[in-house]
Amino acid sequence: MRKCKQCNKKYKPFRANQIVCNEECLVALFEQLPPRQRTRRIAREYSITLGYKSISEVRCAVAFKKHGISYQYEDLKLQYRLPEQNYIPDFRIQFKDGYNIFIEYKGKFTPKDRRKLLSVKECNPTIDLRLWFERSTNKLSSKAKSTYGEWADKHGFLWYDRDTVEKLFTEILELEKKCERKTSKATKESVKV
Ligand SMILES: [Zn+2]
Repeated sequence: MRKCKQCNKKYKPFRANQIVCNEECLVALFEQLPPRQRTRRIAREYSITLGYKSISEVRCAVAFKKHGISYQYEDLKLQYRLPEQNYIPDFRIQFKDGYNIFIEYKGKFTPKDRRKLLSVKECNPTIDLRLWFERSTNKLSSKAKSTYGEWADKHGFLWYDRDTVEKLFTEILELEKKCERKTSKATKESVKV
């Protein structure tokens, strides 16, 4: 048993360095310190004795308790996605058979853009999303060695730039023709039947 530094009651500590019996006493003890001692560092030192990272978290815990809400503190890991939930690609080429090619034009290609595209791809693995760079030879950052184009290759995006974008147009036109043939063939056959 140990004696609480705040309320003097005896308590059974659950942490080796514990100095008070509970969260309420910890906040009270901290708030009684002379203002000069109520620094962030001291707050942290106090909070750690109950397993928290900051006095604000301890205050949250006190608030939950006050409302009779039971809680677990930092006991579960969650995975998360990027905060951007919706992404609208710049262009969509729709083919007659329902196929789509999405095209994102990028002048400046920021780390945020890249994270977003990776997340979009991860969440939409079958999407045909292609990148059209203003300059594919731009470096990812002033320190980086790899270029926009290399990044796109690495992550499996088809990409074009001012020198190769004609290829994109050709591919689109060919796909359109293919669709045309497919649909006209289908119409002929349906007429036959
Ligand atoms: Zn106490």
